[in-house]
Order: sequence, then C-alpha cells, then structure tokens
Amino acid sequence: MEDKTGEAVSPGALAMRVGWCAELVSGMAARLLAEHWNGADVALLAGGVDASGRRLPSKAWMALRRLGWTTSAPAEVTVNDRIVRMAQEQAGRLLRGAQWRAELTAAVVTTWPTDARRRTTEEWERVRAPLPGGRHLPSSVVKARTRQIAKFVRANGRLPMDVFELEDVPRAARMLLLSACDRQQARIERSESTPQRAVLRLQLPTRPDPCSYADWTWVTCPITLPPTVPASAVLHLPTLRLVGGRLQADMAYTHAVPATRPTGHTIALGVDWGLNTLLSAGSIRLHHDGRITALGAGAQFRAAGVLAKQHRLRRLSEHLQAKADHYQRLIAGDAQHELTGKHAVLRGEVRHLSERRSNLNDALAWAAARWAVDQAIAACASVIYLEDLRSLEARGMGRTLNTRLSQQVRGRIAGHIQHLAAEIGIAVVTVPARNTSKHCPHCLTVLRHRKAPDKPTITGWKWAVCPNPPCGWQGDRDQGAWRRIAARGLAHQAKTTTERASGTMVIRSVTDALEAQAVITPPPAKTLRSDRSKTGPTQHRSSRPAPRRRRAPSPARPPGPAGQRPEGPAPTDRHRLPRAAHRHQDGTTISTPTRRHQPRGAALGAGFHLHAHASPPRWETIPAEYA
Ligand SMILES: [Zn+2]
Repeated sequence: MEDKTGEAVSPGALAMRVGWCAELVSGMAARLLAEHWNGADVALLAGGVDASGRRLPSKAWMALRRLGWTTSAPAEVTVNDRIVRMAQEQAGRLLRGAQWRAELTAAVVTTWPTDARRRTTEEWERVRAPLPGGRHLPSSVVKARTRQIAKFVRANGRLPMDVFELEDVPRAARMLLLSACDRQQARIERSESTPQRAVLRLQLPTRPDPCSYADWTWVTCPITLPPTVPASAVLHLPTLRLVGGRLQADMAYTHAVPATRPTGHTIALGVDWGLNTLLSAGSIRLHHDGRITALGAGAQFRAAGVLAKQHRLRRLSEHLQAKADHYQRLIAGDAQHELTGKHAVLRGEVRHLSERRSNLNDALAWAAARWAVDQAIAACASVIYLEDLRSLEARGMGRTLNTRLSQQVRGRIAGHIQHLAAEIGIAVVTVPARNTSKHCPHCLTVLRHRKAPDKPTITGWKWAVCPNPPCGWQGDRDQGAWRRIAARGLAHQAKTTTERASGTMVIRSVTDALEAQAVITPPPAKTLRSDRSKTGPTQHRSSRPAPRRRRAPSPARPPGPAGQRPEGPAPTDRHRLPRAAHRHQDGTTISTPTRRHQPRGAALGAGFHLHAHASPPRWETIPAEYA
C-alpha cells in the first residue's frame, strides 16, 4: 500500500519497484566489486584492521566506509545514503567471502600435486597444513578446487597466479539487503493482533531512474511469517529478492536458545552414516556407577528411493549435458545454425534438472536432520554424537558412498542437525569414527562380518557377529556403529573441545583407558518367545492343493491356426497377508529390505515422502523414570 495516498499497490507493481531499486544497488555493487577484485584489497578487508591499526567494524558496509571504498549512483539518479550502504554491504560480503577462496586456491597452487587426479597422503597433508581449519576440511572441497585449476592449466598451459585470475568478478545479485539500512529507509513491525504477520515499510523509487527524492515514496507491505518463527522472536530487516517475478523476503530473527554444554551428559544419541541406511541412530544412558546401557533398539533413516531418484536425475543430466555439448560443437559459433533453438532448449532443461537435484538434496538434508534431532528429543538426550565425516573417506568408502550421496549433502545434514539441535539446547559433538564398525559394542572384541543373519558362515559386510562366546552380540553393521559412537562420546565427554572459529564441539582423539569404559552393558536375558502377532484369521490349508497355474499369460490373439492356449485355472487361495508392520523393522532385521524399493504410485515425479522411510522410535522400552 502506498503510504501517502493510501492507494493499494499490486504485487506485480511492488515487485517491479523493488526490481528498480535492486537494479540501482547491484549496479553500484558491481562497480565496487570490479574496483577491488584483487588480492591486496580482499586481504586488507579480510584482515580486519585498517591502515592506522584499528579494528574494522563487523558490518561490511561500515568496514568499506572506514577503508574509504565508496561508490555512487549514476549522475542523473538521486538515491539516499542507505541505498549506497546496501551496495557496499553486498560488495563487502562478496569480497570477504572471496578471501577463503583465495587462501584455498593459494594452498592448492603452491602444493600442486604430481598427479592432479590423485594426491598421496603427504600431498594431502601439505595442502591442508596452510589452511585455517584445513585438517577438518572435507576433501571434496579441495578436490573441486583442484579440478577447477586443472581446467585452467589445460586452457593456459600454466598454473593461475591467484583466485582473481581463476575466477571472474562475482556477479552482484539483484537483491536488497535491508539489514544495512536504518529506520529512514525501512522498518519492520510485528502485528500485535496476529503474531504470525509482520508489516514491512520501505522507501521505493516510483521510476527506474529516480531523479529527485520526490521519486521515492514509502510503501507498506504485509508479510506472513512462516510457522517456524517463534512468537517471541525479534524480527530483523529482511533481504528482499525477486524469484520468478515474485517478491520474496528472507526473514532473519533472533530468539534466546538454551546454552549447550560440552560435558555432564547422561543420555546421548549416537548417529552413524551408513551405506544402505542414510542414518542409523539410537540413544544410550550413562548410569551413576559408570555402566552404559542402550535405550531402545535404535532406528534408521532410509532414503534408498530418494537416492535412486537422485541417481536417475544425475544420469539424465549427464546425458543431456553431453548432447548439448555436441550441439555446441556442431553449431560452432554460427548464430544462424538450425540447431541453435534446440541447443537453447537443452541448456534450459539441464539448468532445470540441476535445480531439481539441488532441491531434492535440500529436502533430504532437512528431513534427515529433523529426524535425527527428533530422535534425540524423544529420548530426552542432551547431546548428539555424530560420526566424523572425514572418516568415511579414511575407511575407503568415499567413492562408493559418493556415487550414492555426495559428501556435500552429508555435510549439509550435519550442519542442519547442529542448527536444529541448538534451538532446543542439545549439544552436537563430532566423534572420531575409527573402528566403530569393527568392534563389538558390548565387549570390544573384533567383530566378524557376515552377509546376512541367516548366513552365519558366508563372509560379508552387512551383518556383524561377535565371536566372543559369553557375549554373542549380533546386529546390523550400522546398528553396532551408533552404539559405539554414542558410548565413545559419553566416555570421552571430558575431552570435548569447542572450536573457536565455528563454535562446533569436537572430540579429537580417543584414549585407550577411556575407550575401555565405552562398552554397553547388555540388558538381562529375556525368555525367548516366538512372535504370535497376526493380522487375520489363520488360513485354511487344503490337503489337495489347486493345480498349478500356468506362469505365462495367454496370447492376446491366436498366432496361428492352433487356437488359443489355455491359461489354466486362476489360483483359488488368497494372497498371503502382510505380516504385522513392526516385524519388518525388528532389531534383527538387516538394513536392506529384501523386496525392491516400491514407491507407491510415485515412480517418477512427485512424492518425496513416498521415497524416504524412517523407522519410528520405539520408546516403550525406555523405563518410565527416564522419559
Ligand atoms: Zn561382544
């Protein structure tokens, strides 16, 4: 709504006016970026100290002002100072972000390996050493950068000087970072009657080239807040962006969360990254006498269907990419070529596919993280022990796992778990994963791995059996691993350190003395009883079975003069009833279902929830006093 006249502004007109404003800001930001896209300026800004030795302000636009890096609107256009601030904020953020890439590129270039496709262990050490936090950097980041530089080497025959030669000036996105403004440009207020609504008032130009302050007017726009914003949260000025012609506001808000603590935990959730199951998790309890017991049988988050879909999309995308590249070679710069139109369509399709893949990864990451944190909440755990991601590569499973799910998605899941857990005061601690699948969670004996529980003599991978006769534990590989991770975390909790830069909690090393305490006391043996649950009356079995039905169906039309082949009688017995649902997810079920993944009616296209399966927590085994 227009404030002065009270006229309503249509969403389209509002988006257009925001677009004009964003155009002005991104133009100014682009000029700033072009001026300062060099190693010296980026390092100066990231160094955080100005020429006279004073600390630079943390807000990017204020830091740029201190350094005297200013910009202005084109001569005929009038903008207020807050618009310039937004441009400086945007350029400042991009330039600060470039410092990390510059350091990474410098590290990779100075330690360029003999074989760019495969680094030796020493070469990995050398490239990690100069990087801040490099020891814990996922290697996929280094590999991606190496590929980028290798491409440059192929094109130019030499290594690049720095990231500024390797990459073009970053593009200033068309958006309004209102957080750099004050009340003279934009205000946000929460509606008093309905807490899920907020009102944003801001000044917008009435034309693409406002030539005086009269061309800027105040506009009021209502914003509906997502239900994830708590009613007590303090709202900050959002970032406005145009997505497909519609206006979107990225809301930032602050609310108090309980503090997490590194030690003093008694109930912990252990989370293991699996191959067949994306996540396996379960909770354990540390008793006063130092005993550790498992609470419940643990649960799994399976995403085989989503991963299959992801794989299919990747194959399709690679196919289209190859086709588009081929068209490009055929067109060879000829704008009149008859394949130009087809090529553009293919390029659009590839872009669309890559968006779908990233949306799917995003949905999967949030769903998995939400699931893990919900398990922790249900178990009243105050800490989540996560397996260190880098260990997956050390286990030599990097390649196999990466074809199913990139390390990046796992990293994102870990990040989301941290975010969601912080909201309710649950600590997230990374634990070294050495030997977690190798040793028995009950007695630390080296496990024997078998193909399946009913094949105890065939060496395999999925099923773990403890060869120690008095213990005799057996279970799915990943189900053993979460027990070990959680027990190791609780036993080593005094060794938890907080990384200063990122604020994440880590247990860095495992000591033998503490490790000896990280065993789970098995529950007292129960009398075994066969499962008598059923879903219907017992089927009558005839002593004279019906004759066997022919397997092949009759042909639709007689192929010759011989006439139609008889089909035989249809089976008269009923289909077997499904077994009670929980019996498919027993503690002794292996992780891979024996039947193929069957996405009900969602073979292609929509239906994320039909592709991801999670076992519900079975908390009835937790004694009432803990719950
Ligand atoms: Zn054992």
